[in-house]
Amino acid sequence: MLEQKINETFGDEDPTGFGTGWWSGVLSAFFGLLAFGAVVCLHFPQLLTSPELRPYYPMYLIRLLIQVAVVGAIILGVVSAMLRRKKLLALTGMLFALGATLLGGASVQISEPLHNGPAIGLDWFLLDLLLMTLIFSPIEVLWPAYPKQSVFRSEWLTDIVYFLSTHLPIQITSFLILLPATQLTAILNISSVTETVGRLPWLVQFFFAVLVADLAEYWIHRAFHVVPWLWRFHAIHHSSKALDWIAGSRSHLVDDIVVRAFILIPMMLVFPHDINVAYLLFVTIQATWTHCNFGPNVKWLEPFLVLPRYHHWHHTSQKEAIDKNFAIHFPWVDRMFGTYHLPDGDKWPDTYGLDNEKIPDGFWRQFFYPFSRKKPASAG
Ligand SMILES: [Zn+2]
Ligand SMILES: [Zn+2]
Repeated sequence: MLEQKINETFGDEDPTGFGTGWWSGVLSAFFGLLAFGAVVCLHFPQLLTSPELRPYYPMYLIRLLIQVAVVGAIILGVVSAMLRRKKLLALTGMLFALGATLLGGASVQISEPLHNGPAIGLDWFLLDLLLMTLIFSPIEVLWPAYPKQSVFRSEWLTDIVYFLSTHLPIQITSFLILLPATQLTAILNISSVTETVGRLPWLVQFFFAVLVADLAEYWIHRAFHVVPWLWRFHAIHHSSKALDWIAGSRSHLVDDIVVRAFILIPMMLVFPHDINVAYLLFVTIQATWTHCNFGPNVKWLEPFLVLPRYHHWHHTSQKEAIDKNFAIHFPWVDRMFGTYHLPDGDKWPDTYGLDNEKIPDGFWRQFFYPFSRKKPASAG
């Protein structure tokens, strides 16, 4: 398997704490790859950047980021090479940084006029990966709920592929999600509702938007658990045996599209555009965060807002919590419908994943799994 090969090629038996050259090596490779990918995007912007995002790029900032990534990859690579016996990680980071520089680095100019043709969202993948890694990886390393769990735990590569799979075809997925929503709102044409709602204070609107979304999400999520043929899609999301921020992106394309469309349709009927955009931002950050391997807890807030421990109980394979905690924003929505489960104290689940169902390994096998003809097992 590729993941095993990567782990064996770049890993070693030496300790991985701070000061061992491990983290500087990992970061050097990470920044090197980012810089290289970004420079390739500058060379082929028509093919590799999302037309939806292009107008929003502050190019001087992007170019500055590329420069920082190149310099960062080289400095961290040097540090790692001095500290660690095995120098492959450091060398990889420095080589990618060198490659990015040889290709023109941050100063590559975009000369062709860009049009809204089909494109791959490599820019979106690189940017979001950088952003999410910057936000979530430090808190997972500093304050983990499961200190023994490694960043490169088993199946980490599968989840990176999932992250890729939702970012590269951003044009197709956003089209598939927005099409039913825009069609329905056009047919129903109740603009008076959005106008009335739009007059409320912004925070009140936002709170109601999160509530409407969570109620819609609750029922579609519950349906994905109890309807056997839907469960086969959602089982993929529950197949992770350890949770961290990247595990949250493991989700079958059908699951993703149906859930998003189901949430966006009622929202687009009721709320103005800026509220829906703010909600999308909020849900991306909260949903990623609640999958984090992040231990600290705010006791008094737990019954009101979904925190990592709450969603972790949704992912356990322990009998007492099966088909519980469907809400992704407000735990009291689960309380209202009788599916709330949160043990007292600071108890976290002992096991994750599926208890009575075997899901194949790897992105493509998991993609075809729900379509294969096999008697579905019960939810877990
Ligand atoms: Zn679920
Ligand atoms: Zn989840």
